[in-house]
Amino acid sequence: MKIIAIGRNYAEHAKELNNAIPTVPVIFLKPDTALLKDNKPFYHPEFSNDIHHEIELVLKISKEGKHIAEKHASNYFEEIGLGIDFTARDIQQKHKEKGLPWELAKAFDNSAAIGRFVPKSKFTDLNNITFHLEVNDSTVQTGNTANLLFSFDYIISFVSKYFTLKKGDLIYTGTPAGVGKVNIGDHLAGYLEEEKLLDFYIR
Ligand code: MG
Repeated sequence: MKIIAIGRNYAEHAKELNNAIPTVPVIFLKPDTALLKDNKPFYHPEFSNDIHHEIELVLKISKEGKHIAEKHASNYFEEIGLGIDFTARDIQQKHKEKGLPWELAKAFDNSAAIGRFVPKSKFTDLNNITFHLEVNDSTVQTGNTANLLFSFDYIISFVSKYFTLKKGDLIYTGTPAGVGKVNIGDHLAGYLEEEKLLDFYIR
């Protein structure tokens, strides 16, 4: 399986990192070795002093597709989950300045925390899903899909022009504002609507 991630998909987050609001989706990949499942602890790597949390809604692709039309895109995912796109912001900043790729900042082991998935049928309106992240019991990030720059359907259509989507692939759909550094000992809890789907520690 592969992990596809969308950068800068919420305007307020793009602004907080002094990035322009994109006119086409910003895409990057993570390998399957990036997955961190079952609320296992995230062990802070030594190569970074500034690992940030990015809470994101995650789509699980349910069947293979390529060149998927936007109007059919909703047939390609049945479940939505919550994940954290851990980012070594210090490394990313250096690579951005030099115009280099982001993999060392974004695709390292355990950089894609993933929680339980819920059926999308649970939601009455996919364009009005709220989610939030608490660090040590304080809410630090709150998102709503109404504020996505590129919708789920648009993302699936766009990405599938370049990459064949396969069953089990995950799409991290971008983070809202409020990203910040994690520290050893922090407790992270992620909620999709009222349901807690992520609950783990930084070690
Ligand atoms: Mg992200």
